[in-house]
Amino acid sequence: NDIADRILRGVETVQDGVNEALFEPVIRLGVTGLSRAGKTVFITSLVANLLDRGRMPQLGGSAAITAAYLQPQPDDTVARFDYEAHLAALTAPDPHWPQSTRAVSELRLSFKVQPTGLLGAISGPRTVHLDIVDYPGEWLLDLGLMDKSYADWSVQALADAQARDEGAAFLEALGCVDAGAPHSEPDAKALAEPFTAYLNAARAAGYSDCTPGRFLLPGEMAGSPVLTFAPLPEGSAPRGSLRREFERRFEAYKREVVRPFFRDHFAKIDRQIVLVDALGAIHAGPKAVEDLRRTMADILSAFRPGRVGRLFALLGQKKVERILFAATKADHIHHSQHARLTAIMEALVREARDRADYSGAATSAMSIAALRATVEETRDHGGQTLDLVRGRVADGQGGSKQAAFYAGELPQDPAHILAPARQGATAWLGDEYGVMQFLPAQMTLRPHEGPPHIRLDRAAEFLIGDKL
Ligand code: GDP
Repeated sequence: NDIADRILRGVETVQDGVNEALFEPVIRLGVTGLSRAGKTVFITSLVANLLDRGRMPQLGGSAAITAAYLQPQPDDTVARFDYEAHLAALTAPDPHWPQSTRAVSELRLSFKVQPTGLLGAISGPRTVHLDIVDYPGEWLLDLGLMDKSYADWSVQALADAQARDEGAAFLEALGCVDAGAPHSEPDAKALAEPFTAYLNAARAAGYSDCTPGRFLLPGEMAGSPVLTFAPLPEGSAPRGSLRREFERRFEAYKREVVRPFFRDHFAKIDRQIVLVDALGAIHAGPKAVEDLRRTMADILSAFRPGRVGRLFALLGQKKVERILFAATKADHIHHSQHARLTAIMEALVREARDRADYSGAATSAMSIAALRATVEETRDHGGQTLDLVRGRVADGQGGSKQAAFYAGELPQDPAHILAPARQGATAWLGDEYGVMQFLPAQMTLRPHEGPPHIRLDRAAEFLIGDKL
């Protein structure tokens, strides 16, 4: 009896799997962007708004979501996106931003969907699963390392370090080490540490291209040999030398770090949102914008149909069908500026498509705020009206206060931002454009109300609307 029972249960499990595969479509939505782009806030607010069917009027034209609920995710060994803790941070009496993304995590949201119109009359409700996969954009950029040898990568990485103020200390350390001499671990560390510090400083200064990505977000690999190397100028590399060892570690990084990420996570994605802190880059200056421009093409080339499959000899790499590039934190500027921000994003995406020679998924650009932290205000300033945003900011004593802020004007023509960046300008004319750090606003959400946002529903409609 026991055996019969167990066989029966086995059959049921298989049947469940088959049912799910046949009748319950699964959408795997990748959420990426460089650190601090807003991935954690985006996922938290998206899920909260979907669960409560909150402020999502633009989502689901041909179907009505009748229920949404969280379920155990299909991948047992991937960290679960800590939705409850992140939402608690944002909705606390003294709200604060949640802990940012440090590694891959996942969350499954399931919908009961009722088709509307004629179809609704003849078919019953369906179940659709949405698996949200959160991963650092830094790891995506590592794909560019795959076609490079250690020598090629070194040339590029050293040129970057020379072009950026943040690279000085690393270059100085480089001058003190003989890379042709026998490898010793203290020498390796004496280069890897300032190199890592430089990458972090460059990232903080607004540069996008700071590979290898795990040097910034090492997780459990911190301190391991695979993250203890640095670029070196060309020279002799006898057996046992530091140069030879660094080359070996670079190859190990590609094989042991980059490949598993693309195989286990990236290759299974069918929809993708790339969050971009375009306002942050504009604020950081022309060099950061130029870097962002380059990086967008690199990101897009990771999605070139079949590229990852070919590179890693993977069978069954999914085709990413839609990619949305979203400028985040649009609540930092008045809505009268939103169209200009979107135009800048559209120009960046158009250029990236050209540069990466990309033809594949449908792409789109938007400006959004996953969590709206400000309200708008128009003030009279010496006879001139100024469009401001007002929100909570830190008061420097552990508390908060209200502050209104004029962010300056974005140019009507995106070329006025992108051309000076390309031509190597070092500062913006006027330099009036600024960004302020707002804290999340206090919220009292009524039942069935999600957190306030800007165009999160439109982003969701582009990403998953056709599948509902
Ligand atoms: P991640 O590193 O990509 O996970 O980035 P987070 O989601 O942690 O966001 C980084 C920071 O950006 C947050 O701590 C906030 O300061 C800010 N931020 C993110 N999303 C928004 C938004 O929608 N509005 C505003 N005003 N700030 C945001």
